[in-house]
Amino acid sequence: MRIDVLGVGFDNLTLNEAVERGMELLHSPGAHYVVTPNPEIVEICRENLAAREAVNCADLVLADGIGVVKGAAMLGTPLKGRAPGIEFAAGLMERMAAEGLSLYLLGARPGVAEAAGERLAAKYPGLRIAGTHDGYFQEDSPVIEAIRQSGAEVVFVCLGAPKQELWMARHGEATGARLLCGLGGSLDVFAGVVERAPKFWSDHGLEWFYRLCKNPGRAGRMMKLPLFLIHVQREKRRR
Ligand code: UDP
Repeated sequence: MRIDVLGVGFDNLTLNEAVERGMELLHSPGAHYVVTPNPEIVEICRENLAAREAVNCADLVLADGIGVVKGAAMLGTPLKGRAPGIEFAAGLMERMAAEGLSLYLLGARPGVAEAAGERLAAKYPGLRIAGTHDGYFQEDSPVIEAIRQSGAEVVFVCLGAPKQELWMARHGEATGARLLCGLGGSLDVFAGVVERAPKFWSDHGLEWFYRLCKNPGRAGRMMKLPLFLIHVQREKRRR
């Protein structure tokens, strides 16, 4: 059973268990998709019913941020821990490389997915990059067709929230892929365009603060974090 945090149901899995589950889905018939909500996405889901449905209908819902883990604990239904999307992706690629599986990278500004593909192919020998496409397209059909033609087993969909969740729910099946993963800004990190917070910061649950310092333009978006905690407090009292 999933753990409910303000209307979003999270799978209670460690990172390793999440990767294991991802591989199982990848080897099961049909299309599956994974979402990795952080507090900001939970707040989006509170206001946007279509986004909430897309998130809750995912085959795997992972707690991306420390905020979600804290929220679940405050509500008296603790999660085993965080399973950040980017680390889930790394675990999955390691396993995919061992099996010689193929990956399509969709999203980010033009050139970023290609650069990410080159770096990932070098980092995970055996992993096949089936194709790439930037995330600023106007029409869905040519992109869906390109993924289908590539024969990719897995697609990383990095279009930002809630666009990526809605896109996977709506078009996942048509791509012919077995597993689609909504991973926000991960391609920017894989391409080396954006640096991930050093371990010290993420170990202390301060990755969000590091990102804010690096990019003060995120301040508006980050206001969703205190709002999330206020809503969790309110929900706790209600329960
Ligand atoms: N993006 C995109 N198409 C869009 C809007 C955003 O490909 O129409 C990309 C954007 O370039 C970035 C990612 O989606 O690479 C979203 O990054 P963000 O930092 O918002 O994600 P987070 O990791 O914080 O969820």
